[in-house]
Amino acid sequence: MNEPRRPAQPPAQIAKAALLRLAQAQLEPTPENYARAYAIESGVEAAAPALPERAQALLTRLLALGLPAGAARQQLQQCIEQARWDEALRRLEQLQQGADSPAAQAQALSQLIEGLVRGLERGGRGWTVARKKDGLQRVLEANRADAQRLTQRLQHLLASWGADAADADIDMQQAESAEPTAPSETEADSRLPAHWPAIEGSLHATVQHALHNPLGHGEELIAELDAAQTALLREGATPARVEQIEALCQRARHMLDHRQHLFAELGQLCRELSASLVELAEDDSWARGQAEAMNDTLTQGLSGRGVRSVSEMLLGTRSRQRALRDERGRARDALKSLIQQMLAELAVLGQHTDRFQDNVGRYAEAIERADSLESLAGTVREMVEESRSVQALVQQTQQRLSMEHQRASELSDKVQSLEDELRRLSAEVQTDQLTQIANRRGLIAAFATEQAKAEREAVPISLALLDIDNFKKLNDSLGHAAGDMALKSLAERVSQLLRPGDLVARYGGEEFVLMLPATPIDEAQAVLARLQRSLSASLFMHEGKDVFVTFSAGVTLYRGGETLEAALDRADVALYEAKHTGKNRACVAP
Ligand code: GH3
Ligand code: MG
Ligand code: MG
Repeated sequence: MNEPRRPAQPPAQIAKAALLRLAQAQLEPTPENYARAYAIESGVEAAAPALPERAQALLTRLLALGLPAGAARQQLQQCIEQARWDEALRRLEQLQQGADSPAAQAQALSQLIEGLVRGLERGGRGWTVARKKDGLQRVLEANRADAQRLTQRLQHLLASWGADAADADIDMQQAESAEPTAPSETEADSRLPAHWPAIEGSLHATVQHALHNPLGHGEELIAELDAAQTALLREGATPARVEQIEALCQRARHMLDHRQHLFAELGQLCRELSASLVELAEDDSWARGQAEAMNDTLTQGLSGRGVRSVSEMLLGTRSRQRALRDERGRARDALKSLIQQMLAELAVLGQHTDRFQDNVGRYAEAIERADSLESLAGTVREMVEESRSVQALVQQTQQRLSMEHQRASELSDKVQSLEDELRRLSAEVQTDQLTQIANRRGLIAAFATEQAKAEREAVPISLALLDIDNFKKLNDSLGHAAGDMALKSLAERVSQLLRPGDLVARYGGEEFVLMLPATPIDEAQAVLARLQRSLSASLFMHEGKDVFVTFSAGVTLYRGGETLEAALDRADVALYEAKHTGKNRACVAP
């Protein structure tokens, strides 16, 4: 801007004012600056005009071409705007010799390329050659638009290769992020030990590996852990983030515990299965029902509870079938001995009739030889008596044989009906023998109907898995019969409290499933709370004393398209949480 012309002043004063002007403008006292300041103060000459705007824009562009954005470029820009040419020249000379000089840049670039080439030649444990190539490719692709950023990212990549850390994901995520790095990110990273990203990367990969399973049950959690990890790397370890990661890890631990449990149940199933097959090999039709039930379970997918319920079903069916088979064996033995007895009697009769026939010949001869009426009468009397006794024997034997025949028919009928019962048992009716509510098969059948309806009418189905608390203790202290009574009474109490259309099924052992059609999750929770409240009254009396029982539950909403087992698996995880956070409560599956 031009200064107004002033009246003439003594030169010493002008010189002083010129120096003051330089100091106020924070300009160096170079001859050029001083001459300009003097000219302005003396009023002889206006301040040197800045460059025309077009020329300034041209120089700005040239600067941007030659220098990276930063303090040095900004200072030169100011020199140009304020026409401080001496200073501009001096700064440029410094730059040519300094770290940002083209020579230094070329040197750094050649080192970087050399490092990358060498790094690509050898694979490490975390960074295999393939992963290195992939990482490099992604960094190149994500940073094509910004040379400085590209160089920075390549340097990061090279550094992580050097540490041979399995933190490919971290670098790639940073490389992919198009946003410039926020200052907080660098601050958070600089607080962490140098190897933290590598350690964190390995642990993260391990947790993911452990959670992954072919049925895809852990995928949701894996995705959440992934998102949390990315956020952690971006924002640093804020207290909220730490809390979130701990909650996710707790869910991961529950899921892994649950899987461990599944394997134990699976082993038990295999044992029951082989025992059953051996025992039932006698007649394969008696094993058809069991085989069908196992088939049902396997097609539903492997779940701890499904496997356990089949295991229990096999055990129960086997022991009931064993009792029936023993009875059938006894009936068959009785039938066999009866037949033997009848054969023996027929043989005795045969002997008698054979002897009688022989005697008849002898009587005929005696009659021919008879010379008097007395002797003839004697022989005839003898003959009639013998024939009477043979007739009586035949009659007795006939009566006995007819009775024995009747008994044999009865035994044969019994064997037949026991075999029918064995088949019926194998077919496993849909009602639980003890509690007289639906068993697992009954639940599967009822669920299939509701599932079709829910999908047709787009209404929710809530499912809850209930497990009696401390049931083993109840069995141990009051006896198994009292335990059975508790199961029966609970089934009755729950059935009474449910609405028509709801279903309670015994899923196995001391576990029950509630199926609540057309019920959103909060209503299902309310139903469970009502059930739990009702159990604050005693469940039944044992030896004159009230017995109280509580249960824990996991509740979930059925998701269209999934299997019943998958939904119950989710409820199981929530049940596990309820058990581990104090029991006598219901938790909702996430
Ligand atoms: P938690 O609160 O953790 O569920 O403990 P819990 O004791 O209820 O569970 P656990 O699984 O340790 O024990 C379950 C017991 O249920 C063991 C088993 O003997 C008993 N049980 C399973 N089926 C029956 C049955 O039909 N009748 C009886 N009386 N007991 C049964
Ligand atoms: Mg249990
Ligand atoms: Mg229990």
